[in-house]
Amino acid sequence: MKNNQSCLNIVSAFKNKEASPTESVKNYLAEIDAQRELNAFNFVFSEAALHSAEAVERKIEKGTAGKLAGLVVAIKDVLSIEGKPLTCSSKILENFIPLYTATAVQKLIDEDAIIIGKTNCDEFAMGSSNENSAFGSVLNPVDHTRAPGGSSGGSAVAVAASLCDFSIGTDTGGSIRQPAAFCGVYGLKPTYSLVSRFGLTAFASSFDSIGPFGKYIDDVALALEVLAGHDPKDSTSFMSQPADYVNDLSARGEKLVIGIPDEYFSSGLQPEIKTEIEDVVSRLANAGYEIRCIKLPHTDYAIAAYYILTTAEASSNLARYDGVRFGYRGQDSRTVADMYKNTRSEGFGTEVKRRIMLGTYVLSSGYYDAYYKKAQKVRRLIKQDFEKAFGEVDIIITPTSPTTAFKLGEKTTDPLEMYLSDIFTISTNLAGIPGLNIPIGSDNQGLPIGMQLLASHFCESKLLQLGKFIEKNIL
Ligand code: GLN
Repeated sequence: MKNNQSCLNIVSAFKNKEASPTESVKNYLAEIDAQRELNAFNFVFSEAALHSAEAVERKIEKGTAGKLAGLVVAIKDVLSIEGKPLTCSSKILENFIPLYTATAVQKLIDEDAIIIGKTNCDEFAMGSSNENSAFGSVLNPVDHTRAPGGSSGGSAVAVAASLCDFSIGTDTGGSIRQPAAFCGVYGLKPTYSLVSRFGLTAFASSFDSIGPFGKYIDDVALALEVLAGHDPKDSTSFMSQPADYVNDLSARGEKLVIGIPDEYFSSGLQPEIKTEIEDVVSRLANAGYEIRCIKLPHTDYAIAAYYILTTAEASSNLARYDGVRFGYRGQDSRTVADMYKNTRSEGFGTEVKRRIMLGTYVLSSGYYDAYYKKAQKVRRLIKQDFEKAFGEVDIIITPTSPTTAFKLGEKTTDPLEMYLSDIFTISTNLAGIPGLNIPIGSDNQGLPIGMQLLASHFCESKLLQLGKFIEKNIL
């Protein structure tokens, strides 16, 4: 069976015995091996995946298999799976094996998905190009000299290069949507708190979201349906029953009103991205959608607020890696203090160290009010911008990234340049709202162009419905 089928079709082919999960796992393992050069995986679980495939086949035989029966899934290496390595692509977690499984991963397993491996990413999910990884860069499958985006680069590539049926990433400031845009696949960052973060290695706890990458809109809807829902192990997780995302897909959102914010179409935007999005928007207008210009006036302050708040949270979250409890321990230390210092100096990469220092600085006495407190106020203003906008429109359309995939090495010497590549995705995380990347075309070099749809808190169904309409009727 070819793997250009939607996940729903693959599951029904397995249930009708037109294809088998074992064959599918074997095909993907061969493909992962053939495309090793992409460096999308930190770990591949060949034997365990084949073993799971057999178990799923027995369940299919008995008629007890779950919603994701036999689907092959790749997991970003920041999520815990009991007994399997968890590195966050960092030397500091070398040889660390967790004792429990993240709720998000457990939910996939409970529905009979097969976990094929853990994907490469930027160290502790800090980056936009997947170049900050102790496992080396991931290559963009469309052009191997270019970045796949980050931080969930390996998960985006695993889907784009057909190394799995769907994959899981995390998004703190754009790490699902931007790599999805660079690689030409769908990527959904759910509303903050819709998916449990239990077992996710924390980067910035008030921003981190877990979400899926897929080749089709139906695939991300199906994955979200399984991932979403309250978890008593995550005190921030949303209490209510999540929506029925797959069934909701077939309902065309009646008279959805679409907003276009000026602030996202400024001069820094690659002209072909602008043209492609304008084309989609005018087709939506022709199809009867109302299009309105809206304002998100505090957009300019988003990057500064994000890098103050997330580094502050990261400096606190990453304090636990001290050589005592997890993974790597610094060499040749004579005192305990020396051991902490050596562990952290040798174990963390440059970008992670930069962020720990920045975060410690903005939280330090005398600077807290000037930076951290002020950034929290800006966060509130950005959230209010969206609340006001969603009083007038159902969906906001923006570019996902200001450019298509840039060259590997192009931005590594200038952190600020790298930070600016997330300019269109970061506000979403400050506000906690959901965002979806849709691949809408390519530029004159054949590189994928992504368009971002944003909706109000817990309105994922609207995002998916409009996404489906665009996938089916516009592209
Ligand atoms: N690129 C952004 C950063 O470096 C976003 C990362 C993310 O979403 N995990 O922080």
